[in-house]
Amino acid sequence: MTRVGFIGWRGMVGSVLMQRMYQESDFKNLDPVFFSTSQVGQNGPNINGQNSTLLDAYSIKDLSQLDIILSCQGGAYTENVYPKLQETGWDGHWIDAASTLRMSDDALIALDPINRKSIDIAYEKGIKTWVGGNCTVSLMLLAIQGLIKENLIQWVSSMTYQAASGAGAQNMRELLIQMGELSNSVKSELVDSQSDILAVDKKILSTMHSPSFSQKNFTVPLAGNLIPWIDQDLGDGKSKEEWKGQVESNKILKDTYSSIKVDGLCVRIGAMRSHSQALTIKLNKTTSIEKVNELISSGNEWVKFISNSKQSSIENLSPAAVSGKLDIAIGRIRELDLEENTISAFTVGDQLLWGAAEPLRRILKILINKAQSL
Ligand code: NAP
Repeated sequence: MTRVGFIGWRGMVGSVLMQRMYQESDFKNLDPVFFSTSQVGQNGPNINGQNSTLLDAYSIKDLSQLDIILSCQGGAYTENVYPKLQETGWDGHWIDAASTLRMSDDALIALDPINRKSIDIAYEKGIKTWVGGNCTVSLMLLAIQGLIKENLIQWVSSMTYQAASGAGAQNMRELLIQMGELSNSVKSELVDSQSDILAVDKKILSTMHSPSFSQKNFTVPLAGNLIPWIDQDLGDGKSKEEWKGQVESNKILKDTYSSIKVDGLCVRIGAMRSHSQALTIKLNKTTSIEKVNELISSGNEWVKFISNSKQSSIENLSPAAVSGKLDIAIGRIRELDLEENTISAFTVGDQLLWGAAEPLRRILKILINKAQSL
């Protein structure tokens, strides 16, 4: 039985991964070992009726006993542990949700509905590091796979609306706390439906600007607000999240499809879960909107085409509509009055599923199947 170590299993991505693995009965084909950076010795999850005790996620000795390590712990952990493990000559597979190793020549970005061919080539070459793609990149590629397959895209501008949970469990809690603090600050005014709305607005703003407002994780208010920057400042006007769009997309597409140009701004909004993206797509040949709709709808089995009407869009094309589902909703598709062959689209997908946990779960399964078929 393949011994698989799980690190980061109780975080945002990790807990969704655990949930999906239970649903798909994935644990029956592997021998799981659970680790923690902060709860060593405490109880781990109960798998198939078996209790587990959490091992130390920094113990290179324990980690090096594993066939596969799957980390959803984050970049700092990967930076610390991965090189030390490699130094020991460990020969296992490393699967990671963090971006640290994504662009390394020795790592493949796993998104098998798009790059299964690259996965097979890399496995044959002896690649042993498999990294999940950036959430918005994976979701965007899956949403427009139908156009990519036909080599119809010259460039895409992706303007993102990313949920709080994209920043982790603590940030998701902080958004809720901020919402509560805002609501509590105008509790008496809300009881009276005739109270002065400008007074409510003023009080909300002053609560947001108060030094006691909870913002340890986001550093600024997110509730009732937005944050127009995600990840590091690269110093050239671009955020690291925006930089990932072009480089990661094309690393994923490399062996299967033509390259495309991708750029746009990434924005954090106060949604709880699921990332949305407004896309402007420049097609490289004139294509009717009916044909575009048909290609997008048949891109893969997870695409959920939403017709471009008000009712259908507001009901089906939102974080509330797709959260917790593997569906990748895409709609608002129309020709833009800007220049020829330019269309709009709006897509929403659960960034914890197809944007993070699902590609990791699937690459784990692919590796186990390959190992067991030897
Ligand atoms: P997270 O929720 O912050 O969890 C990371 C770790 O924080 C947990 O495994 C846990 O480790 C620790 N932790 C401390 N307090 C916790 C609490 N109250 N609840 C749960 N965990 C707590 O991070 P994440 O969002 O899953 O991200 C993990 C990695 O995936 C990052 O590299 C991130 O960039 C990447 N990623 C995230 C998303 C997303 O949508 N969130 C999408 C794609 C990729 P211990 O048990 O060891 O203490």
